[in-house]
Amino acid sequence: MAKRVYNFSAGPGMLPEAVLKKAAEEMLDYQGSGMSVMEMSHRSKVYQSIIDGTEKALRDLMNIPANYKVLFLQGGASTQFAMIPLNLLKKSNKADYVNTGEWATKAIAEAKRYGDIKVVATSEPEVFNHLPELDPKEFRADADYFHMTTNNTIFGTSWKKYPDTKGVPLVVDMSSDILSKVVDISQFALVYAGAQKNMGPAGVTVVIIRDDMIDFSKPETPTMLKYKTHVDGASMYNTPPCYGIYIIKLVCEYLLGLGGVAAMEKINEKKAALLYDTLDGSKIFKCHVQKKEDRSIMNIPFRTPSEDLDKKFLKEAAEEGLTTLSGHRKTGGMRASIYNAMPLEGVEKLVEFIKKFDKANS
Ligand SMILES: *Cc1c(COP(=O)(O)O)cnc(C)c1O
Repeated sequence: MAKRVYNFSAGPGMLPEAVLKKAAEEMLDYQGSGMSVMEMSHRSKVYQSIIDGTEKALRDLMNIPANYKVLFLQGGASTQFAMIPLNLLKKSNKADYVNTGEWATKAIAEAKRYGDIKVVATSEPEVFNHLPELDPKEFRADADYFHMTTNNTIFGTSWKKYPDTKGVPLVVDMSSDILSKVVDISQFALVYAGAQKNMGPAGVTVVIIRDDMIDFSKPETPTMLKYKTHVDGASMYNTPPCYGIYIIKLVCEYLLGLGGVAAMEKINEKKAALLYDTLDGSKIFKCHVQKKEDRSIMNIPFRTPSEDLDKKFLKEAAEEGLTTLSGHRKTGGMRASIYNAMPLEGVEKLVEFIKKFDKANS
């Protein structure tokens, strides 16, 4: 029996154990093909059935409308920071961005290389510990798109609803909360997410793009960075990240078996409430995000009053099999990432440990 820990890593994160077991079973001989999925031609019939199955399962889970394409790309969410301006800055060359954290900051910096980028709201002066107020008067009516990060992985905030951009295409980085809760895809023009938080292994980036967002790219855009290249090639213009796409299929099928995203959301809400209630009720722990309505149900940064106590917490937690809990250097302290694959028992064990540590150190 493999000895597994509760891994609170922000990414790559845990995968459902059932998925890892199934992948292990199919490792040497995928369904009678006599090969591993890693060894297959991506042009083969058997692989085509895998990628088609991944797309179908994802469409079912997220209820993706027919006028959206689903792409499986490489380069991580970070490559999207460039692909989006290169392909979407098609008329005014303007885009509006909301700055809610480290990833948004990076997306803004990259977009500024290609167009006239306006930061319409930011919570940077308060170390992104809340979501900024959005004032529609700041939005530019002629912007080619409007960009937001749905869940802020490092600082632990997440949007519960999105602004009315009055027809300006809304583009979102959903890397750290895709498949964690029910969302209406039709409000977005483009959704992107690196797989390694909630969908599968690193190396695949999912892009869900509305049909009218595909026709343009700036003349200097490399072939590999044009959405049209990948739409025309059905994610097979070149060799796709074959194995990662297969794992996403297993993860999606696992979620469908659980009752879909709505069922997963209920479990996620329960896990997050358990952790927040414990931290809020403790003597020594404080959450980075105090405003309850802004809190993420995926990433929960918190700390004690001192760095030494934080270190002690991390050391003792690891001894209990509760690992990868250290916070990002921008917030310090701890961060518990409780993605879909973190079992309720993992959170229960963490909560128990937090209570014990609180008592012993207050
Ligand atoms: C992890 C993360 C990224 C970066 O993803 P890569 O795939 O490593 O490029 C971008 N945005 C958000 C919100 C993230 O959580």
